[in-house]
Amino acid sequence: MPKITFPDGNIKEFATAISGAEIAESISKSLAKAAIAIELNGELKDLSFVIEEDSVIKIITPESIDGLDILRHDAAHIMAQAVNELFPNTQATIGPVIENGFFYDFARDIPFTPSDLEVIEEKMREIVKRNDKIERRTMSRQEAIEFFTSLNEPYKVEIIKVLPENEEISVYFQGNFADLCRGPHAPTTGRLKAFKLTKVAGAYWRGDSKNQQLQRIYGTAWATTEQLQEYLIRMEEAEKRDHRKLGKEMGLFHFQEEAPGAVFWHPKGWTLFQQLIGYMRAVQNNCGYVEINTPSIMDYSLWQTSGHAEKFGANMFTAYAGEDDRVYAVKPMNCPGGVQVFKQGTISYRDLPLRMAEFGKVNRYEPSGALHGLLRVREFTQDDAHIFCTEEQINEECLAMCRLVLQIYADFGFTEVRVKFSDRPEQRIGDDSIWDKAENALIHAIEGANLEYTLNPGEGAFYGPKIEFVLRDAIGRDWQLGTIQVDFNLPERFDIGYIAADGKKHRPVMLHRAIFGSLERFTGILLEQYSGKLPLWLAPTQVVVASITNEVDDYAKEVAAALKQIGCRAELDLDGDKINYKIRKHSLLKVPMMLILGKKEQETSTISLRRLGSDTQEILALADFIAKLGDAMASPTGEHREF
Ligand SMILES: [Zn+2]
Ligand SMILES: [Zn+2]
Repeated sequence: MPKITFPDGNIKEFATAISGAEIAESISKSLAKAAIAIELNGELKDLSFVIEEDSVIKIITPESIDGLDILRHDAAHIMAQAVNELFPNTQATIGPVIENGFFYDFARDIPFTPSDLEVIEEKMREIVKRNDKIERRTMSRQEAIEFFTSLNEPYKVEIIKVLPENEEISVYFQGNFADLCRGPHAPTTGRLKAFKLTKVAGAYWRGDSKNQQLQRIYGTAWATTEQLQEYLIRMEEAEKRDHRKLGKEMGLFHFQEEAPGAVFWHPKGWTLFQQLIGYMRAVQNNCGYVEINTPSIMDYSLWQTSGHAEKFGANMFTAYAGEDDRVYAVKPMNCPGGVQVFKQGTISYRDLPLRMAEFGKVNRYEPSGALHGLLRVREFTQDDAHIFCTEEQINEECLAMCRLVLQIYADFGFTEVRVKFSDRPEQRIGDDSIWDKAENALIHAIEGANLEYTLNPGEGAFYGPKIEFVLRDAIGRDWQLGTIQVDFNLPERFDIGYIAADGKKHRPVMLHRAIFGSLERFTGILLEQYSGKLPLWLAPTQVVVASITNEVDDYAKEVAAALKQIGCRAELDLDGDKINYKIRKHSLLKVPMMLILGKKEQETSTISLRRLGSDTQEILALADFIAKLGDAMASPTGEHREF
């Protein structure tokens, strides 16, 4: 007679063993209809699971994150079933749930085409309509191997062979399709309502390029058609904002095969990049930082000392040259360089906290498949800083950084910021008392800055806890940017110290922080955040001065010169083109302001101002415009800093 406890604390007693579906039914018809699984004593199970003992139960519907994941996994199975029915000589490999959807990797000699996707999607709808029962069966290892061998599914057999000995092997059946799967799944295929296949891409068996090439079909699935529609619109919007497309249209940068994952910045892109550096430099100056610069190529031994060679060696570029038989590394991180600067001379406790910033260019090997425009590169510039401080100063420094980070993100239009906090892992160095101190400092800082956080238990580095900042952009996407890490390890490894008030040498703590993270990546995110329509202070070209007729060229030159005088990035367009053509051209380049000059403007010393995206013009006296522009193009730096 199982006693069932519900999330609201209610308890119901049943006379006999009972399934999840029956419990849902006993609550309400509508819940039974919506239910797709249960959470039993913290573990997800099928609705058909029979409960014999006292348990805590939660009915799972697609409205919850767990429910949606189950639905997405149903969709992956239904897709594999559809492929199986349509293309019988295809082998299924793995089909997990991913953010917003699912994929399945198939082995097939002939590539899937976009029209194949349509046919597969149509077949999936048919399977949903059939409302096939989804049933779980367990098998012994030997039975399972024989079963999938008989289905000609060698990849499944390979997966079974490497499953841990004691793992229960379960197979889910629907119609004439079967898949090796832990589950749980919805009770029937009819529960899947809102889905769409999105694309097909190449993949490798077990993610290894030495293995057989597979074809990965991606799809998205949602609890309701409305949610699906919203998602598809968001994707369409994201495509329009794609920074790679905008970068080309606006002439900002390019990539080429000879330098995979490294950016060729064009003058306009580099101007934007320099604006970001200038902004951060000004902020750092206000906050008591000093700036340093350290070599890109240094002896490999430094990385052995730091521990990067051991942990990170596979991602490091090495260098050799001439007759020199030393091995060098192209730096993947700035920390060891910063430590070398700290080590010069004697540092007193009065010098701490020492906040040392570096716009350091680093190189890290990423597989070519992972590269993605500016968002994932091999060579990038960090707005890195290392704060050397005493244990007592960790608290205050972390709080100051958290506040600073929020102000900086707000300056770029990001106001929704969350934090991920990763605390001590099992394998770690340092006393628990220091970890307590460091973790408390970070928590205190997060709370002091009024930030919401989620805990990643045990996910900190072996040398210290960390926080990571996650921003939500204008179309609801999340980006992980900055980090703050507390580090007791590097000071130890490099044996650095400061002279404390007691006249003895003490070990400082190192705080690593980056706010933009990678400037290249941040530039990409900014382009997408603003759809390329950058705020005036960031725009590579702020104002274009365009003449309607060449008769006013001299006046146009005079206006442009006056703008440059106040530091405005102004450009002249004296081409013989029609003015409407010029407007279109500079709109595509996303120039925030155009001054349209004709005879009337020349005679009255005025300008016609046309803002990006507007189809009207305002007439202003040139002197008034220049006065207003000066304020409008100022960077937000330092205006509202508390420091
Ligand atoms: Zn599965
Ligand atoms: Zn560092």
